[in-house]
Amino acid sequence: MRTGILGGTFDPIHRAHVNIAIKAYEEFGLDKVLFMPSPNPPHKNEKEITDITHRVNMIKLATEDNPKLEFSDFELSREGKVYSADTLTLYKESHPEEELFFILGSDSLYSFDSWYKPEVILSKATVLVACREDNTSNNLKEQIELLRRKYNCEIHEIYLRASNISSTMIRQSAYSIELNDFVPDKVADYIISNNLYKTYVGSSRFTNAQILDDLQKSLNPSRYEHTLSVANTAKELADTFGENPNKAYLAGLLHDCAKCIDDEKSIEMCKENNIELSDSELNNPALIHAKLGGFLAQTKYHIIDEEIINAIIYHTTGRPNMTLLEKIIFVADYIEPLRTKQPYLSMLRESAFTDLDYTIYRISEDTLEYLESNTENKNQIDSNTRETYLYYKKIVETRS
Ligand code: FE
Ligand code: FE
Repeated sequence: MRTGILGGTFDPIHRAHVNIAIKAYEEFGLDKVLFMPSPNPPHKNEKEITDITHRVNMIKLATEDNPKLEFSDFELSREGKVYSADTLTLYKESHPEEELFFILGSDSLYSFDSWYKPEVILSKATVLVACREDNTSNNLKEQIELLRRKYNCEIHEIYLRASNISSTMIRQSAYSIELNDFVPDKVADYIISNNLYKTYVGSSRFTNAQILDDLQKSLNPSRYEHTLSVANTAKELADTFGENPNKAYLAGLLHDCAKCIDDEKSIEMCKENNIELSDSELNNPALIHAKLGGFLAQTKYHIIDEEIINAIIYHTTGRPNMTLLEKIIFVADYIEPLRTKQPYLSMLRESAFTDLDYTIYRISEDTLEYLESNTENKNQIDSNTRETYLYYKKIVETRS
């Protein structure tokens, strides 16, 4: 019995996965190929993974019409971090009569040496590497040769027609692409009927287009331009750091939604709605738009995501220990491309995309310097601005 094993998150399983499996059994005479999804990670990480029940259901749908393809729960019953080396060892113990073929993407092969116990993987199974047909790169061949020599093992290539299908792309645009082109038909139906991979919904009542329309009316033209610029910058930062780009965009859109309400009216609105104002806010009413903006986001724009509301409230002063979204909005507001007056902008625009904490430290330092050099402003410095500066300065200084 020759058994192929294809592991992964399968969020969702797509046509390229299925094609790899088919090619593998056709070319290497496998009796079956097992799709072994990895379990949900024990801790929620930044990029949430779809519940295992859905992922399993989709694998079953994608494989049920082909007797050589099977779903396997072999990795699901294990606790803690699941390593391929352990999977293959345990599988081999319980199925000693089966000859194993471990199927990998060519990308994984480059990092293969740093995997957990690569020598164990290679001793339990023949590795089959999925390569693009048009991949003429010698690098891959060299890498295969290198591993063959180092581990004295068998590695074979499976060539597939180039495709740009990826689970990430499907998750991000499931409702704007022809889904059936990318996932098996039954999986496409399943995704739609279970509302999987819906784009981010931040407002319980309004679409982004409706919010934009309202902002255009309630902000002056330059503030509206700034708003769009912050939203787009926030989206780019979100893409870079693994925050939900749609959520960052929406927070960017609304961060200054209360900016064009005059001081007197702002203070009045806060009083009416029991929004407490600090001395620094009363001394410097320009700060109020952040708190009031957070309030309007909830009440006027029906934002249901608390992270967005906090990102609006702290976008001007920052605060210690900000969430990723708060950092993104704080930074995007300062570096967006229409800004020209602040010092060190070109440096900050670069550092923003590699190191948010450092960028926050430098922004809050520059802001403090500016406020302190201006005697009139001395009493108006918000304690959050100072605390943000000290907090992020310490973070930057104490790391290696
Ligand atoms: Fe603002
Ligand atoms: Fe702003």
